Amino acid sequence: MTYETQPKASHYVNGAYLEDKKGEVIKVIYPATGEVIAKVHAATPPVIDAALEAATKAQKVWAAMTGRERGRILTDAARLMRERNRELSELETYDTGKPLQETLVADATSGADALEYFGGIAGSLTGEHIQLGEDWVYTIREPLGVCVGIGAWNYPTQIACWKSAPALACGNAMVFKPSETTPLCALKVAEMLTEAGAPPGLFNVLQGMGEVGSRLVTDPRVAKVSLTGSVPTGRKVYAAAAVEMKHVTMELGGKSPLIVFDDADLDNAVSGAINGNFYSSGQVCSNGTRVFVQRGIKGAFLARLAERLKDAVIGDPMDEATNFGPMVSARQMEIVEGYIEKGVAEGARLVAGGKRLDRDGFFLAPTVFADVKDEMTIAREEIFGPVMAVLDFKNEAEVITRANDTAFGLSAGVFTRDISRAHRVIGQLKAGSCFINSYNDAPVEAPFGGVKASGVGRENSKAAIEHYSQLKSVYVRMGDVEAAF
Ligand code: NDP
Repeated sequence: MTYETQPKASHYVNGAYLEDKKGEVIKVIYPATGEVIAKVHAATPPVIDAALEAATKAQKVWAAMTGRERGRILTDAARLMRERNRELSELETYDTGKPLQETLVADATSGADALEYFGGIAGSLTGEHIQLGEDWVYTIREPLGVCVGIGAWNYPTQIACWKSAPALACGNAMVFKPSETTPLCALKVAEMLTEAGAPPGLFNVLQGMGEVGSRLVTDPRVAKVSLTGSVPTGRKVYAAAAVEMKHVTMELGGKSPLIVFDDADLDNAVSGAINGNFYSSGQVCSNGTRVFVQRGIKGAFLARLAERLKDAVIGDPMDEATNFGPMVSARQMEIVEGYIEKGVAEGARLVAGGKRLDRDGFFLAPTVFADVKDEMTIAREEIFGPVMAVLDFKNEAEVITRANDTAFGLSAGVFTRDISRAHRVIGQLKAGSCFINSYNDAPVEAPFGGVKASGVGRENSKAAIEHYSQLKSVYVRMGDVEAAF
């Protein structure tokens, strides 16, 4: 291994690396080989306290700066991320196992997009003036204070930036806890923010398991919690935050429908299904894992999909020709294997994959089930792995009802050449992030987030500003005050 994967220390607090070996050891495993590539320690209560104190102090300094000054630091951090994209992408690949072909274009670059976008609008965040006769009201957009970010393991750099960029633009400070599975990348984000001029303590990183996250969520110094994770964790974190009425953003799981009508462009629809099921080895929350294919196109769709699967280059994620890598961990691979077994046992037709690959690391072949029925486990539960379920449908009304028959509501996609139908169907699907003749695009300019059990709030876009700031309204009376007595 040529790359230095062991970080200087486990945590990043008050503008510098910080070690505390009393915390439980967390081994970082390279998913492509199973090797231990780094060790970090979980944060102990004194380290958590130090991070929250540093963030509380830094937030006051930061909020006193102008938005444009804050924005300049965020955009400088974005520039550093772009300059170091290759190095950061390699680290992301070591942390997650995702192929370098993906990480070079989807991780540090997406993080930099967020820092650049929110850096760009930091100087124009304003309140408003409301005239009421001769009196008037003005509103001040204020930061919330110290925000906590808690990340999942699939996009460690992106998640750290999607949460911190809008938070910092609004004048908040952040304490971020990465997933214990992927602790490395967020430390680099912290380094670059410091290098760009962020005050010490503005963005802190604490390692640890759910227990560290839980301590952060319940600490009275924290004003807001933003979680990316599963629905069960979301329920716990939302409930804990509610005790002190903390603000929350919940980016949770999904079981999203991708609907392919008979008149769809076949190759584009197959590309959408591949992007929505096999990118990042299927470990993407917004994936379209219920692929509803209209009966007239089903045979052609499955045949073309089978041909396209032959182009999957599975192997060393550091080889830029590889376009399909391992699962993030042995545990995640076992969970997905369990779902594949259930798919077979419940009568779905396995038409591709379904097996581990005979090599080191956590490789599972891209898997496709056909003839899947709505009530099967693989059509109801989030799998979070490379497993596509293809379901047949007859007509539009039927597929809309079936697509909405889920507790989740993160994403939805439609492939059709009929533009009226595309908008009509999307208008009736209960999902937050939708696609017409595409799947899984996530530009920072567009709001991202779910409805129903998939979450609360929106990340990215101007909408995120609403979730990291609050309005103070000030009534100004110009004349005398009337009173009853
Ligand atoms: P988890 O829900 O298991 O964990 C998410 C994070 O929460 C981790 O950092 C975890 O720590 C932490 N955590 C766990 N318990 C608590 C608690 N009680 N209090 C505070 N923090 C806690 O999700 P995974 O990491 O396994 O990620 C996969 C899931 O994330 C999938 O279900 C997926 O759908 C969802 N996801 C959603 C996205 C979205 O934007 N909607 C994007 C990506 C993933 P640790 O694991 O270190 O113990």
